[in-house]
Formats: sequence, structure tokens, C-alpha cells
Amino acid sequence: MHVDMDAFFASVEQLDNPEWRGKPVIVGGSVESRGVVAAASYEARKFGVHSAMSMWSAKLRCPNAVFTHGRMDRYEEISAKIKKIFLNFTPVVEPISIDEAFLDITGSQRLLGSPLEIAKKIKIDINKETGLVASVGIAPTKFVAKLASDLEKPNGLVIICEDEVTERLAPLSVGKLWGVGKKFEKALSKLGIHTIADARLLPLDYLEQRFGSAGSQLYYLARGVDSRKVEGDVKTKSVSNESTFSEDITDIEEIRKTLMYLSDKVARRLRKGKIVGRVVTLKVKYDDFKVVTRRKTLESPVAISKTIFEIAFQLLLDKTDAGDLPVRLIGVGVSNLMPEDVARQHQLFWQEEIDVAEIIEETTDLICEKMGEGSIQRGIFISDKR
Ligand SMILES: [Mg+2]
Repeated sequence: MHVDMDAFFASVEQLDNPEWRGKPVIVGGSVESRGVVAAASYEARKFGVHSAMSMWSAKLRCPNAVFTHGRMDRYEEISAKIKKIFLNFTPVVEPISIDEAFLDITGSQRLLGSPLEIAKKIKIDINKETGLVASVGIAPTKFVAKLASDLEKPNGLVIICEDEVTERLAPLSVGKLWGVGKKFEKALSKLGIHTIADARLLPLDYLEQRFGSAGSQLYYLARGVDSRKVEGDVKTKSVSNESTFSEDITDIEEIRKTLMYLSDKVARRLRKGKIVGRVVTLKVKYDDFKVVTRRKTLESPVAISKTIFEIAFQLLLDKTDAGDLPVRLIGVGVSNLMPEDVARQHQLFWQEEIDVAEIIEETTDLICEKMGEGSIQRGIFISDKR
């Protein structure tokens, strides 16, 4: 089952501001800072406004809309409520963004009824608990369930049974398949492939040869074959690195350098795994082996070394006795992780704040990947050596 809230951010705003109900509401950044639309109410969508569009063109299309900045805290509060509701129906819940999740209800049917009955109950519970409306798709596979939830939005409830999958997929655009982005879609269109039914005409060999693993994925998804399971738990809970000094240290500058080195390592691992996290943790072990951990929760998730370092160093200065007491070990970690894709949805709000550090670090990743680890380093580490 795939459950997706309808126009989530915009609906929350209409819920909390009754005078906005029935009106076009656009949530996003500001026009001046070249922000983008994070969500548009269905009234605004009638004017052709959709998410990820620039606020500027949204304003052109729908000048009389209510424009508002998002309130991520409020959305997260509601998102947590919804997740709790899901857990009443099955323990296997895989959130894929702040307002959608996959639920495996295979084991819930004897207790709670047919998939249709379960879906109806979930929709009612969500509405009672939050005042918001969700669309639900039910299918034998994740991919088809996600398609199904979108078919009759808003307030949709679509079941696609095993024997209907091929037929229901056939007329849809190939672009609806996972892994088929704009570029891939264009390449397929040149081959005369526009719908999912068209895609089935291409043999597996050919698809693999021409498009690699994306090609074979296309082959199977076009036939409704998708073996991915609903993943109940995020596999990694945190990413951290620590370092023990060869002798106990009181020199803050020395600790600062190590902290930067560790932050680089953690950030690199996060970016490699395409994950980001919202909690930065600092661990300090003093020479008497006493260990303290200090943490800070960020407003938006990060995978940037500079940010991780700055927070960890601030925690070190403000909340530990490092410098006064000799330090034996120091560690940095990032937790409360989520996939980068999920975070991107949050980050629509922070778009304006993307700084140079991100570009520098992504470039550094590329160089290290191509030329080997250590081929490019921070000056702070190099000046050390001779
Ligand atoms: Mg949604």
C-alpha cells in the first residue's frame, strides 16, 4: 500500500488558516531570492502551478494566490502523527518522504480485513486525527502501488490486482516508470517508445546493451515486476568516526584539526551513501576515561563537512571541558538520517541558502574519486607536514 497526502504543505496551511480554504495557496521560497514552489493547493494547480516551479512563474500564473513560506516544524509534527496511525495497521512502514509511505499490509488482513477495508480505515483515521486527506494505492508491488495512489488524486483509493497490472500500466507514459528520467524518456521517444505498452516491445538484451541496468529495470517494471520489499527500518542509524590521540591532549587547536578531519570523513561517507542527517553528535573521552556526548538537532539535514565541523566544534567549546581537561579520544557523528531524495523535499525551503561549501565538497569528492583519497586536502592539514 502506498499512502500519499494530498497537496500536503498547502493543505496544512489551509487547515491552520481557515480563511485560505478554497483559495489557491502556494507554499515556497520568496520571489526575490529566486525560491521555488514547495507545494500548491489544488485551487492553485488549476492555474498550472506545480511544485519545483520557480515562485516567479507561479506568481505570473496565479497572481492572486496566497503566497506563504513553509513551516517545516508543523509539517513534521503532522507527519509524525500520520506515521503513528500507519503503525496501528502494520509494523512494516517505510516512509519515503515527509508525506508518503509504503505499508506492507500482507500480514494485517486476517486481523483488520481486506486491503480495501484497511485503506478506508487508514483514510478515515488520518482525516479524524489531522483533518487532512490522503490518497491510497494498493497493488502487489511497491512501484504499482505508488502509481495507483496517484491515479485518482485527490482523495483517491485505487486497487490494482495482480491480473490487472499489465493492462492498467499499458497506456501510461514510460516516464511514469521508476528510473526513467527526462533524458531516458527522450531517448526512448526517439525509438518511438512513448507508453509502457510500447516499452514492452523492446527485448531485454537490447535494453541492457543500450541502457545498462536502467534498461533491464525498465524491462521488468514495464511488466509490473518489482521485487523490492517494503523496508520497515532505515538500515543505517548513524554515521560516525572517532580518533584516539597517541597522547592525551589539551591543545584546542590540535583537537580542532582532528575534528575537522573527522567531519570530512563523516560527510564523505554520508554523501557516498546519498544520505543526510539532522543530528550532529560530539563525543569526548577525557584522560580519566569518562565519556561525554553532546548533540545538536539542526533545522535542515546536512551532509556538509563544514557545517558538521562548525557544530561539533561549537559543542566542544560550549559544552565540554576540553582544553581544561586532557582529551584522549574525540568523535563526530551524524544521526537521524534520511535519504537525500527525501531531504530534497525539505530543502526546497533552504534552496536559497546553499553555500559555496557544498560546491567545494562535491568537487573534492569528485577529485578524490578520480585521483585517489588524499589527492586533495585542506590547507590546515598540509601546513602541518614540513
Ligand atoms: Mg503528497
